[in-house]
Amino acid sequence: MSSADIHTAYLSLGSNLGDRHATMCRAIDLLGREVGTVDRQSAMLETEPWGFQSANKFLNMCVRVLTPLSPQQLLAATQGIERELGRMSKSVDGHYHDRPIDIDILMYDDLHINTPELTLPHPLMKERDFVMIPLREIYG
Ligand code: AMP
Repeated sequence: MSSADIHTAYLSLGSNLGDRHATMCRAIDLLGREVGTVDRQSAMLETEPWGFQSANKFLNMCVRVLTPLSPQQLLAATQGIERELGRMSKSVDGHYHDRPIDIDILMYDDLHINTPELTLPHPLMKERDFVMIPLREIYG
């Protein structure tokens, strides 16, 4: 495979249920097996829930992954990893809830797309310190 077939994606990971640190580490391991090479990862930071009330704080981090997958394949893979790590349901109409793992695709190369399944770059990333602080650590 030539390097032209490899894409650079930035992902945001979050967890506020269960053993958050272990779940995030498992997610990174599964990304390495199922998505591509995780070549950069930020520190994990603890944050308040965003957009909903919960006593359970989040751990958040960002990773960079080098992947042969298309954006749609990448979304399917990250949603598969969410399910594998115990996430039962998606947020509906912007209503969020506690979750063992959430993986959002922030950017994929320089691609701009807006489909019902996928918007890139992620439309809310700049409003979220829990995304931008770890992203700045690894971006470039
Ligand atoms: P959530 O339940 O908060 O993880 O929301 C995921 C939903 O947002 C899924 O149905 C995705 O199809 C959709 N979505 C749109 N853009 C993105 C993106 N950039 N990264 C991840 N999910 C996305």
